[in-house]
Amino acid sequence: MAFSEQFIAELKLKNPIEDIMSGYVQLQRKGRLKACCCPFHSEKTPSCMVYTDDSPHFYCYGCGKGGDVITFIMEIENLDYVEAIKFLANKAGMTVPDERSVDTRFAHLKSRVLEMNRAAAKFYHDILANSRDGEKGRRYFEERQLSRNTVIKYGLGYSTADWDSLARYMRSQGYNDDELVIANLCDRGSGRVFDRFRDRVMFPIIDLRGNVIGFGGRTIDGGANTAKYLNTSDTPVFKKSQNLFSLNFAKKSKEKRLILAEGYMDVISINQAGFENVVASLGTALTDEQTRLISRYAEEVVIAYDSDEAGQKAAHKAINMFSAIDLKARVINMEGAKDPDEYIKRFGSVRFGKLIERSPSALDFELARCRDGLDLETSEGKVEYLKRAVRRLSETASSIEREVYAGRIADETSVSKEMILQQIAGNMKKKVRQEKSREWNEMYSGKRNIRNDPEISKHPKEYAAEKAILSYLAAYPEEAGNVLSKLPPERFVTGFNRKIYEKIAELSETTGFYDFLSLQSEFTAGEMGKITEIVVNRDDININKMSIDNFIDILLEYGNGTADAENLSDEDYRDFFKGLQSKK
Ligand SMILES: [Zn+2]
Repeated sequence: MAFSEQFIAELKLKNPIEDIMSGYVQLQRKGRLKACCCPFHSEKTPSCMVYTDDSPHFYCYGCGKGGDVITFIMEIENLDYVEAIKFLANKAGMTVPDERSVDTRFAHLKSRVLEMNRAAAKFYHDILANSRDGEKGRRYFEERQLSRNTVIKYGLGYSTADWDSLARYMRSQGYNDDELVIANLCDRGSGRVFDRFRDRVMFPIIDLRGNVIGFGGRTIDGGANTAKYLNTSDTPVFKKSQNLFSLNFAKKSKEKRLILAEGYMDVISINQAGFENVVASLGTALTDEQTRLISRYAEEVVIAYDSDEAGQKAAHKAINMFSAIDLKARVINMEGAKDPDEYIKRFGSVRFGKLIERSPSALDFELARCRDGLDLETSEGKVEYLKRAVRRLSETASSIEREVYAGRIADETSVSKEMILQQIAGNMKKKVRQEKSREWNEMYSGKRNIRNDPEISKHPKEYAAEKAILSYLAAYPEEAGNVLSKLPPERFVTGFNRKIYEKIAELSETTGFYDFLSLQSEFTAGEMGKITEIVVNRDDININKMSIDNFIDILLEYGNGTADAENLSDEDYRDFFKGLQSKK
């Protein structure tokens, strides 16, 4: 870490976490803590806690994000460590100490990757625009009726079927193979470096500052073994879950409304038809980060997905996500076409504009889906429709909406509105109960932490012991020497915990001091959440000097074949997770 401890301490002091967070969320008092609805995942009851003690931090019991004020800014503003420091320093009117003392290697790498992306975009575009090799790509875009202006506006391109034409070009421009792989322009396999995108039309992804941050590539004639779409994987400058295609143009339009389309071609076609305010997610299902990004630029979103079953299902999911963050959503009813591109070609842009204006609210769309395949003239049809509609309305946060739509359903089915509202209320209560008990079970069994990690689910006991040891070290820094002398870092079983323990070992050896919450420069913002969980446990779990040896023994015995770690009693195990539960 290149910033001095003193500078960071002053920065945090001048940017109290509760002040900074209240610029983004509504904080409520909850006993000695403050709480808010988590800005990083969708929820309606607050599970994000703010601790304002001597090491102020936040932790979300729902999604596991957490950290100090610097991590918070990294996450919510989508900045790296150094950028977040600058952001906060600026807020507090502090001068950031000498730039050169900051670890500039990562910043350098980022600007290198951006340069490479720009050069690659130009390379692909030149092939498309000017070379014989680009014929196939030109034909594709001509068939899709894209104008020359549109091709230039979006910087579209074409990658040839060669294994390494881009790689050869980039090497001639002074970039080495490692850099090409880091930028994900090339892949490495069997000792060779080859182009990632081959025989595809290319869509550069451009951020709000005009940087080319990645690419989407689409096959032209397919083939069973090729993915139709291929995107840049995450790189130092690109996280596909956190960006939107064409937001650079949409942001400039003065519209308060964003159109959300399914893919690159839909966006470009809608844009060409005169609607600048259109975006798409990047070859993945819509993410929470993307819905937040949309809500930052729009008061309303119009979902323009394909009219097929898959598209309608995706629309349903998107509606729930927007509803969770209280962003008004509508859904285009694409009668007579399979997607916006086809609709515009068939009926023209004027009618597409009207289609947007007339698009039903998300709830109208959802209730129409409930009626699908039912005959409301029959009693069975009515009952089934009521069931589905009640289920749907009980997911609606707005009581006014529930009231209005209950009235409408009452008219459709001749069942009294009061009866329908009563059903909805009952359903809502039941859901809250189910949700609570599901959360509790996951917490208690530890599933919440181990869901996605095979390394951890294979070693749940060792993992729990490691976390207990780390929480102990967070609570009693003065014990580090003692613990380290008994337990060398290589005895940690799971990788991520070992990495933390190694770092603690290193810090306590070199400086005699460590602070879990100040590890941002070594760990990603996502990892800081897991580290914060350890810090939070510090206050919650009761491990004393006797029981810590039991946890250490579990790790020492692991792999020796001497014991199956029965030393960790159910009691210890329960204590470990009880802390989490008591906060709910
Ligand atoms: Zn959360």
